[in-house]
Amino acid sequence: MTIEQLYDIYRQYPSAQTDTRKLKAGDIFFALKGPNFNGNQFALAALEAGSAYAVVDEAPVTPDSRIIVVDDVLTTLQQLAKYHRQQFNIPFIAITGSNGKTTTKELVYTVLSAGYKTYTTQGNLNNHIGIPLTILSVKYDAEMAVIEMGANHLKEIASYCEYTLPTHGIITNCGKAHLEGFGSLEGVRKGKGELFDYLRAHNGTAFVMWDYDYLQTMSAGIPVVVKYGTGGAADVRGTVQQSEPFLTVSIDKGANIPAIQTQLVGSYNLPNVLVAVTTGKFFKVPDEKIKKAIEDYIPSNSRSQLIEKNGNKFILDAYNANPTSMKAAIENFAGIHAQHKVLMLGGMAELGQESLQEHEAIIALIKQHPWKAVVLVGGDFVKIDHPFIKMANATEAADWFKSQQFNDTYFLIKGSRSMQMEKVLG
Ligand code: ATP
Ligand code: MG
Repeated sequence: MTIEQLYDIYRQYPSAQTDTRKLKAGDIFFALKGPNFNGNQFALAALEAGSAYAVVDEAPVTPDSRIIVVDDVLTTLQQLAKYHRQQFNIPFIAITGSNGKTTTKELVYTVLSAGYKTYTTQGNLNNHIGIPLTILSVKYDAEMAVIEMGANHLKEIASYCEYTLPTHGIITNCGKAHLEGFGSLEGVRKGKGELFDYLRAHNGTAFVMWDYDYLQTMSAGIPVVVKYGTGGAADVRGTVQQSEPFLTVSIDKGANIPAIQTQLVGSYNLPNVLVAVTTGKFFKVPDEKIKKAIEDYIPSNSRSQLIEKNGNKFILDAYNANPTSMKAAIENFAGIHAQHKVLMLGGMAELGQESLQEHEAIIALIKQHPWKAVVLVGGDFVKIDHPFIKMANATEAADWFKSQQFNDTYFLIKGSRSMQMEKVLG
């Protein structure tokens, strides 16, 4: 079957699903293979559960007219996504970077939604499966699409661009994340830079954080570059007006929004807010709608959330961690005025050879500021000699926390996803 033929079927049944647990009647089930499962084995069950069709790459013993056999299901899913993408002549804004992609995606989405019918990545579905599924979820009434792209090795973003065909792009930053796959910071820049390479070659537009020299360099030659940042050269310029506990941003150039009172914790969210304002202005969303959209946004999923409980305050930032975001979070927390501050930090994953050294650097940073207590949990933190409290895992840390009976204390809780530091809060 050709992609055109499959697309004709998709027009009748415009809902692609790869997870049998989430199937709805009328879905097309794509039988992907993973390290622990083979979707082909669930194809018949999917049809029984109401799928209109099942796309497989291992033909079943009993033929069924609703089973479509292809060479490779994943490639087919991506090609179908590309074919669907080609039906739209609208902005497709791709977002990649080391930190803040989802937050940026949600802020940009909420701002653009104030002016346009906009579709976006659900949750964090930002990989070779999530991106095609996101593209396929864009309905024909779409005026804009905002797509998050995650990557942990070279050529990944380039391959996503082949079927996403982005017209606009944002690289939030290039930091020390996924060093295992990228090899070095230079590798991170090259890998994330594949988005800008695509835009350069395809008459695209980039929204660029002009405070970062490396992003200036990386964006050279892109036909349209829109700059945001804190310096004079930026088209949209803004600064942190206040950051305790929530970030208030003032825009003094490019938009008439003197104060945006966000519900985000952490001044490291400034660029995320600025680029949301910048895209909104670029696409002519009125200032007051931009302001309201950003102010109404509440982060979810343990991303920089502020929680008050039993007389204590918690910045719960346990969604993920890497050296760059850990440093940003600690420095932000160090700047908060509170008498009793406690750090509860989990290890950082996926750092390869530099892991020990990066954990040591975080310990050195912690030593520069006064804390009531510091608890370092799991990962390489337990391998290093340091004066702080050591815990093997988040469950132990949670027990310690319960035993301490804190009051009027401010906590920063952060760590890699695998550390599950949110357990500390029970
Ligand atoms: P993932 O790689 O898991 O998809 P992401 O890039 O989508 O992550 P978010 O989920 O938006 O990132 O944010 C995760 C954490 O990164 C935040 O809770 C915060 O600690 C940190 N962070 C967010 N924005 C920035 C930024 N601009 N600079 C540095 N750190 C940031
Ligand atoms: Mg994300």
